[in-house]
Amino acid sequence: MNFGTRVNLHTHTRRCKHACGTVAEYCAEAGRQGIAVLGFSEHSPFPDERHGGSRMFYRELPEYRAEVEAARNASLVPEVLAGLEVDVEPDYGFAFVEDEFLGRQRFDYLIAGVHYIPGRDPELLWTPGTVLTPEDVRRYIEAVIHLIESGLFEYVVHPDLWALCCPVWTPELTAISQDLFRAALAFGVPLEINAYGLRKPSIETPAGRRPPYPWAPFWELAGEAGVQVVVGADAHRPADVWGNTDDAVAFARRFGLEPENEKLAERIIARRGSKRS
Ligand SMILES: [Zn+2]
Ligand SMILES: [Zn+2]
Repeated sequence: MNFGTRVNLHTHTRRCKHACGTVAEYCAEAGRQGIAVLGFSEHSPFPDERHGGSRMFYRELPEYRAEVEAARNASLVPEVLAGLEVDVEPDYGFAFVEDEFLGRQRFDYLIAGVHYIPGRDPELLWTPGTVLTPEDVRRYIEAVIHLIESGLFEYVVHPDLWALCCPVWTPELTAISQDLFRAALAFGVPLEINAYGLRKPSIETPAGRRPPYPWAPFWELAGEAGVQVVVGADAHRPADVWGNTDDAVAFARRFGLEPENEKLAERIIARRGSKRS
């Protein structure tokens, strides 16, 4: 199978309330930008609508699923996949994720995203001026490792999101990151170099200006560890459906990392095929 080089499995739509564009609009733009495999990965909702400002309503799940299915048959993009970017919380744990998203709703794939630091104010990462402690970063990474160990996720999105609130790299961050790389390698789960972070306004730090994430020292260590990586557009508007993702590929190669998007897509597509037959 050869899907070409443009495989993006990280796409949002207007349903999440902080993105724009419908599934059909993303597919049309993906056709123009030469995307071979387009995966939709809306932020997963919770039955009690927690964190509801940044995700669809729970009742929309079947509608979203159907919207992607319709696009699969109608669009010019060779492969369209239905996924979710999932936040897991203790009272909606892995059994819920598996039964509801993979079982009942039959999504093709799930990707893991941590957007809140466990045990801390959910707004913390999103409040300008926040500086995280090493303990905060450790909690974030432990949550990511927990998701990796579940075996439910194709990859982890922006595993270095916390970099947006960390002005200076420290030896503690090296140790914490290496724990994550060990888990990613042990479970064969790729980590994502997120192109959205590269599109965001750069931040001022004592070491100079840099994109909020991905953060070079983290990926330098990832390169030394030899983890598997993917790139994700993390599109929140149709124009970004591929957009600057080549910058994320170039960023990976700086550290000797080669994105494995095509391999991942082949695996998801093969699994979907066998499920249906
Ligand atoms: Zn988003
Ligand atoms: Zn995302």
